[in-house]
Amino acid sequence: MGVRDFLEKAQRLNRIPNALLLYGEEGVGKSTLALELSRGILCGKPWGCNNCKSCKSFNSFLNKLKGGSLKEISYLSEEGKFLYLMGEHPDFILLIPDGATLKIEQVRAMEEFLDLRPVLSKKKVVLIEKGERMEPPSQNALLKTLEEPPFNSTIIITTSRRENLLKTIQSRCFNLYVEPLKVEKVKEIAKVSQEVAELSGGSVSRAKLLKEREEVLHLAKNFLNSEPFKRYEILKAVEGKDLEDRELFLYLLELFTLKSLKEGGEDYEEALNLLNRIGENLSALKRGVKLSLSLFP
Ligand SMILES: [Zn+2]
Repeated sequence: MGVRDFLEKAQRLNRIPNALLLYGEEGVGKSTLALELSRGILCGKPWGCNNCKSCKSFNSFLNKLKGGSLKEISYLSEEGKFLYLMGEHPDFILLIPDGATLKIEQVRAMEEFLDLRPVLSKKKVVLIEKGERMEPPSQNALLKTLEEPPFNSTIIITTSRRENLLKTIQSRCFNLYVEPLKVEKVKEIAKVSQEVAELSGGSVSRAKLLKEREEVLHLAKNFLNSEPFKRYEILKAVEGKDLEDRELFLYLLELFTLKSLKEGGEDYEEALNLLNRIGENLSALKRGVKLSLSLFP
């Protein structure tokens, strides 16, 4: 049974766990799935009926979210710090990183929200996106909430790096793996070439990014075939790029190294070392640590 079918059944039976962890590659639709599930939980019908007051309020939030008018739905603290996104629906909030990380003030604000009774729906829902960007204090605070889940509420966490979450958080949640999309599906949705769709790892957002940023693809392709000095120059070029580009570069490098390892093209030990360092760099990047692309021993 796929994750969608499973969640549909759980909604129909009204047996949604108090805490859910949706994990899987970036861009495979975790966010969309989590939002639709939230609408369903708040409405009481699987994925939402789209007609009741709850669904209408929720959909108006969704439109603002998709339209990018985040200012209208940003909820700020008294000091003007960004806490979470909230639209007309009084029983739903969306936590996204404030900058590179999810901060402890944000988790505290979520706790305050959960302390209130639901107003419009029977349940309250908190959706935490990019859970891997939670700083350790935020994760510890969240863990306390998960240990004593508030009555009548559901917390949904999405992440593309489950290993960056505390084991204790993982084990307090019902874990669901969201599968990558098939190459053909990515091609169709992202409108990209076969090569890009294949490199996307089943992720629509990554496919779109690859199409937009051909230069990164070019740099990653060159890296493995280059001498150390040239490699150094490529890394310098990547360091000057934005977070998304650097992440994409590391992802591609990992992919190409694995491929060449399979084909026996790379020196085994060297390739393994490189893979290790790519992994370290990637998780540092996801934790919001400034990357100095330490891909050399
Ligand atoms: Zn409804």
